[in-house]
Amino acid sequence: MRILVTGGAGFIGSHLIDRLMADHHEVICLDNFFTGRRHNVWQWVDHPNFELIRHDVTDPIRLEIDQIYHLACPASPVHYQYNPVKTIKTNMLGTLYMLGLAKRVRARILLASTSEVYGDPTVHPQREDYWGNVNPIGIRSCYDEGKRVAETLAFDYHRQNQVDIRVARIFNTYGPRMLENDGRVVSNFIVQALQGIPLTVYGTGQQTRSFCYVSDLVEGLIRLMSGEIIGPVNLGNPVEYTVLSLAQRIQGMINPDTAIEYQPLPTDDPQQRQPDISLAMKELSWQPGVGLKEGLQQTITYFKSQLLTKAGPMDSLASMSENKLS
Ligand code: NAD
Ligand code: UDP
Repeated sequence: MRILVTGGAGFIGSHLIDRLMADHHEVICLDNFFTGRRHNVWQWVDHPNFELIRHDVTDPIRLEIDQIYHLACPASPVHYQYNPVKTIKTNMLGTLYMLGLAKRVRARILLASTSEVYGDPTVHPQREDYWGNVNPIGIRSCYDEGKRVAETLAFDYHRQNQVDIRVARIFNTYGPRMLENDGRVVSNFIVQALQGIPLTVYGTGQQTRSFCYVSDLVEGLIRLMSGEIIGPVNLGNPVEYTVLSLAQRIQGMINPDTAIEYQPLPTDDPQQRQPDISLAMKELSWQPGVGLKEGLQQTITYFKSQLLTKAGPMDSLASMSENKLS
């Protein structure tokens, strides 16, 4: 099949591309390189089945494809809040154009949505039938409401134009190829511990998250795309940790002498988050297999090598200023 991956040079997208290439598909990676890096897909650039296109999804594009994995959107609060209007455009216009493309060429399209559609949830753990508790005007809204409207668009294109959609609600995912300056909790704590500087715990650290290793997530995305249910389907690891316990675990694995420094909790930071994955287990026969210890070990090994070479992240910092303008 010929498969388009938007946001394919990013963290999750590049792992997905590795898997699709290994499965002998033709893959088109489309990215504006805001938080993605060419380096992440470098191993494929000379492969006859692979094509890399620099393009911003807020502009329309015509391509002949059979499937679309629509992942283009910065995922870290630091990056999606950098230019919030652009984040809304990416989610609204980007998803609109991708659904339009899917309609025109009759491609199946999978939308990478998020647990953020549940906001600061009052129901715990979160099931797909929970409508969420989202602040529509806060600093996270560009992303949360952006993804909510992206889901709405997907379902309306499905009802109105019979577009063949799949919607994944992805919970916190981590692993190699996260950016060193990504700002998300796992990469922050690992990089800080490796550098011997204090681990920055926001608030009391009693807020919770559930962390899914990237290879498990990719397997879930592929099963959702290949299966019959359209979703939305939660994809995440249901084991829940407080942020403080994550910090202590990473401290213990890298450098027990590193300090923990408490910093203010960002506005609207969700207090608890844990996926109910019964639907994915039943309909996709999917559940995560990589535990936190093993996944962290892989990620630590990756960041150690990154800190030694110090190559990639500069690309991305340069592209941030470019993105602020559009
Ligand atoms: P990422 O920031 O590493 O990847 C996003 C990619 O999209 C980057 O390569 C970036 O350059 C590209 N991009 C951003 N705006 C674009 C635009 N306007 N046009 C073209 N390309 C653009 O993030 P990720 O963690 O790999 O997340 C991928 C997707 O999964 C995102 O849609 C995100 O919302 C979703 N998601 C991720 C997580 C997670 O924990 N990683 C959780 C929930 C949902
Ligand atoms: N967090 C933290 N220190 C950091 C980065 C994040 O304590 O250096 C906290 C953050 O406040 C949140 C949790 O870790 O409660 C997860 O944050 P992240 O940005 O990774 O993802 P999200 O908030 O989008 O789930």
